[in-house]
Amino acid sequence: PNGARVPVLVIGTGYGGSVAALRLAQAGVDVHMVEMGMTWDTPGSDGKIFSGMRSPDYRAYWLRTRTKQPLSNFLGFPIDKDVPKYTGILDAEDFGGILVYQGRGVGGGSLVNGGMAVTPKRSRFSAILPSVNADEMYNVYYPRANSGLGVNEIDRAWFDTTDCYQYARVGRKHAQRSGFEFVYVPNVYDFNYMKQEAAGAVPKSALNAEILYGNNYGKKSLQKTYLAQAKATGRVAISAQHRVTSVSPASGGGYTVAIEQIDTGGNVVATKTVTAARVFFAAGSVGTSKLLVKLKATGALPNLNGEIGKGWGDNGNVMVGRANHLWDPTGSLQSGMPTGGIDNWDAGGAFAEVAPLPTGIETYASFYLSITNTPHRAEFSWNASAGRADLNWQTAWKQTSIDMAKSIFDKINSKEGTIYRTDLFGSYKIWGDHLTYHPLGGAVLNKATDNYGRLHGHPGLYAIDGSLIPGNTSVNPFVTITALAERNIEKIIATDL
Ligand code: FAD
Repeated sequence: PNGARVPVLVIGTGYGGSVAALRLAQAGVDVHMVEMGMTWDTPGSDGKIFSGMRSPDYRAYWLRTRTKQPLSNFLGFPIDKDVPKYTGILDAEDFGGILVYQGRGVGGGSLVNGGMAVTPKRSRFSAILPSVNADEMYNVYYPRANSGLGVNEIDRAWFDTTDCYQYARVGRKHAQRSGFEFVYVPNVYDFNYMKQEAAGAVPKSALNAEILYGNNYGKKSLQKTYLAQAKATGRVAISAQHRVTSVSPASGGGYTVAIEQIDTGGNVVATKTVTAARVFFAAGSVGTSKLLVKLKATGALPNLNGEIGKGWGDNGNVMVGRANHLWDPTGSLQSGMPTGGIDNWDAGGAFAEVAPLPTGIETYASFYLSITNTPHRAEFSWNASAGRADLNWQTAWKQTSIDMAKSIFDKINSKEGTIYRTDLFGSYKIWGDHLTYHPLGGAVLNKATDNYGRLHGHPGLYAIDGSLIPGNTSVNPFVTITALAERNIEKIIATDL
């Protein structure tokens, strides 16, 4: 409520925020979470909470009047369409040069993502976060995160026979024939539920092409894991459709947090202030960075250091499709949840997940989202005249990622005698190099913060989300974001409270 005083306020309900809320509550601290997106617990007139991927409706996009589908074209034809403006679940945020896709709602990115729950190879971890004790991460915090998230693995015998992973088996075959390592990727989607979907025993979600705009069944999003546990403590309150706009030191100690309540059209219907002894920034890499650069530049939090907004990267994301021969169909039924990848990180700087293209018809296409070892990092800065945070991303930087991804796919194409698809991202455009699903950085650990996420210059302020990770994780990021949050919150509870 307006004017309230709370011990802890958490901005955002994604991975970092959910871990912080649960562990603080278990330690006996009352936590108030503020989330700008919706609660996503009420079915629409079709009886479903989330809109399907093949027919995105008003629930699909965050305050857009036209869809902005990651694969903008099919057979060369544009597939985007008009939708009513609504506080939908997927934000395609445009920073002039890169579209950054993010989840909006209670559960953050866990609502929209592919559920791929990847722990990076240990040998690569220290290159990413050199100040973090890797023994502790691999012995304690990665296992804790995997268990908290409900990560499970696919039954290999089922993988080898089910129609819905034909596309992944083709991906495996082509990878292995070119001498690449194929790795099975764990997921937070319940594979036992998926088996029942395949058997026709339960309502379909992964096998009904659901991904991107929410999964109506089967996926253990944060709403079902960390946030359910957090709510069960009785100490965690969540205000959805509330957006934090400012945090500044309060005269009597702690911080004044300014909040706007919005309606489903994105209009501000009320403004509120809350005083919090401690504030956790968990608005995601982009959300946290945007807030912090604004608060530093406008003098609300003048003592933040010069690292704020820096070290931002796209996890080297690029997408591509390959056209297979007619004897290599990828299947008309494709599970929306990816479960394998091609690892060529050490030799070529790329880890490519074998992704679904669940159009419902046979396309003879193999589709991939690559994570690459790009060296490029951008910076957020406050644009005072426009009143917004800008990102100095350069479109040409994606060429490095394309070259790394080509270390896999040029070889596969030459071995298989196949070619790239040119019809998925425009007409005659091979690479999806205009977007990222994996924004990381902006308040990098041990730079903008100390080695546990305490923001420099303002005691009681913390960053605890993807903003801590300097632009790359070598794999899909949410397990690492969760594990790092588990590590940091344990230290903070032990020493700061
Ligand atoms: P988020 O999960 O982004 O949560 C931040 C929350 O803060 C959001 O709910 C947001 O609405 C809220 N917020 C922002 N600003 C404010 C504000 N000012 N006031 C109030 N609330 C605010 N990762 C994987 O590991 N595996 C995958 O398979 C995978 N697939 C993906 C597929 C898609 C389509 C997308 C978009 C992402 C995918 N990711 C995947 C990435 C993963 O979801 C993110 O890395 C992760 O969600 C980031 O966690 P976070 O805690 O940093 O923030």
